[in-house]
Amino acid sequence: MLKTPRKLIIAIDGFSSSGKSTIAKDVAKNLHYKYLDTGAMYRAITFKIINHNIDLQDIQSIQNLLNSTSIDFKIVEGENHIFLDGVDIEDKIRGLAVANNVSEVSTIQVVREFLVKLQQEIGKNGNIVMDGRDIGTVVFPNADVKFFVSASLKTRAKRRFEELQAKDYDKNLNLEEVEANLAKRDKIDSERKHSPLKVAKDAILIDTECMTKQEQLNFVLEKIKEKTK
Ligand code: C5P
Repeated sequence: MLKTPRKLIIAIDGFSSSGKSTIAKDVAKNLHYKYLDTGAMYRAITFKIINHNIDLQDIQSIQNLLNSTSIDFKIVEGENHIFLDGVDIEDKIRGLAVANNVSEVSTIQVVREFLVKLQQEIGKNGNIVMDGRDIGTVVFPNADVKFFVSASLKTRAKRRFEELQAKDYDKNLNLEEVEANLAKRDKIDSERKHSPLKVAKDAILIDTECMTKQEQLNFVLEKIKEKTK
């Protein structure tokens, strides 16, 4: 275990299925830090909007929905699960219904304001690894160490497809559909007006294309050590 000199905030941003959440979880485990999956928070809000059948143009109804929304994380059988209004929805947010709408929902300013505030509250005392799209640029621009993770679209689609198959979500999906969803999300996430996905100027780049998980973890821990000594 790497001993850190103080309670750090570690930001891990990057493209969908680039491997950032695997790295973030491994680093958090290694440092005995908390892990915050901010993508799950956008997915949870998307899930709620779909269930309430709210039009994405109807900002007032979305604001009302946010006003009566609570989001928490708890460990269930050793895994980090997200709870929406007290209910465990971890297995409801990873399928295509949510994935197809989450990037659109994530462009809505009131949604971003609501979640960024919550993320800042959860992370403010440090000892945390957060993964997302805008952690190093918007949520914690002063994070102690920032990473930006990428891999080719083909590799990311293959990983996501295998994950969906293994977890029993949307088993009927083919690889092409998964790739199309990732490409669409990349485009919306990178081009949106509010907090687009971009590399923070002080972020350390990681291309996970040809790295094993262990190599990724070693690389990140080494960089954290260098940056904080
Ligand atoms: O990380 P994950 O793929 O679960 O994120 C789902 C979606 O949530 C992203 O495609 C993006 O639209 C949105 N998101 C975001 N900002 C974050 C995390 C996720 O806009 N910090």
